[in-house]
Amino acid sequence: MKISVLRTPHPRVFPNVDELGFGRYFADHMFLMNYDQENGWHDPRVVPYETLGLDPANLTLHYGQTIFEGLKAFRWNDGSVNLFRVNDHVQRFSRSAAHLCIPAFEEDVVLEGIKRLVDVDRNWVPAQRGTALYLRPTLIATDNALGVRPSKTYMMFIICSPVGNYYAKGMAPTRILVEQRYSRAAHGGLGDAKTAANYAASLLAAEEAKRKGFDQVLWLDADTHNYAEEVGTMNIFFVINGVLVTPPLGGTILDGITRRTVLALASEWGIPTQERPISMHEVTQAHADGTLQEVFGSGTAAVISQVGELYYQDRPLVIEEKPGSLRERLYKAITGIQYGEITDTHHWITPVPVATNGNGNGHAKKELAESLGGDVSGGH
Ligand SMILES: *Cc1c(COP(=O)(O)O)cnc(C)c1O
Repeated sequence: MKISVLRTPHPRVFPNVDELGFGRYFADHMFLMNYDQENGWHDPRVVPYETLGLDPANLTLHYGQTIFEGLKAFRWNDGSVNLFRVNDHVQRFSRSAAHLCIPAFEEDVVLEGIKRLVDVDRNWVPAQRGTALYLRPTLIATDNALGVRPSKTYMMFIICSPVGNYYAKGMAPTRILVEQRYSRAAHGGLGDAKTAANYAASLLAAEEAKRKGFDQVLWLDADTHNYAEEVGTMNIFFVINGVLVTPPLGGTILDGITRRTVLALASEWGIPTQERPISMHEVTQAHADGTLQEVFGSGTAAVISQVGELYYQDRPLVIEEKPGSLRERLYKAITGIQYGEITDTHHWITPVPVATNGNGNGHAKKELAESLGGDVSGGH
């Protein structure tokens, strides 16, 4: 499938790099692709960033048949732009789609679309260490109807946001409330799909925790409220007596790409790793006998986030990390690979090639003509 490119005639001004934050600014272009039963997935294209113009009866708005991804492109010191574990993200996008009854797409087309989009918006990839271009592939139902059923038509879009350094103001350990009332995901539910519903389910608990002065919540299993599952929207890790422990994937936990990266690196370093249920009883016990050495979350946005306190049953469990922590070693190794400072022995890096048919303005008109199927040489 050929991906057409239509460049904006009105490029925006790049914001001040110190004020990027997360997901506040968006690059000039977006990727779009549509699905209907007659044509399947068709018309993959890069176009100027624009509003979608949804009908008020749009199915997604009512019943949440939608999925998303989050991944990053990094600018290396040599000027090149590189994606981290893009294949894994696209594969997970596929799995989320299947879970939400969304028709399968060709992963190669999405991969190519991502590369094409990032190439076109190459100058939106910030250069400072710690910054990146965050990509948000999203897929929504587009039928306009109120009957509860899977949509017959869909739209995929990918938008790009230049993001700042999460830790520009230092890595403050987070204070986490162990959530004993609300649940994020239940067995047989959507917990292992990257979908809006899981985020909707998490909002109230997070707001109440913030009102009490905490940064986020630690989600426990919905059945017993005893086993750790995720921290906020990150996967959770514990270092107990030299062993790196994380809850197993069992349908209620998101299969994080950063989680996989953490497990792979730790194993390579000879650190024992375990994917198994971790009860709050075990955590409390390990804290009491001094073997709870570290707690941290993992996810694309912040990479690794230190947990400094777990507040459980009206008591704070303070985690005092020693120098030379595994968390710090992991953070350095992962970001080192992402920014090309450490050799990528895992094939986690995918360079974004500069299009051979031209990336300069001289070719924009030709591409515009291609995508419109006509000649626009006099148009502007
Ligand atoms: C996206 C996400 C994560 C982190 O996954 P990464 O692939 O590491 O970014 C963890 N938990 C939830 C609920 C998520 O949505």
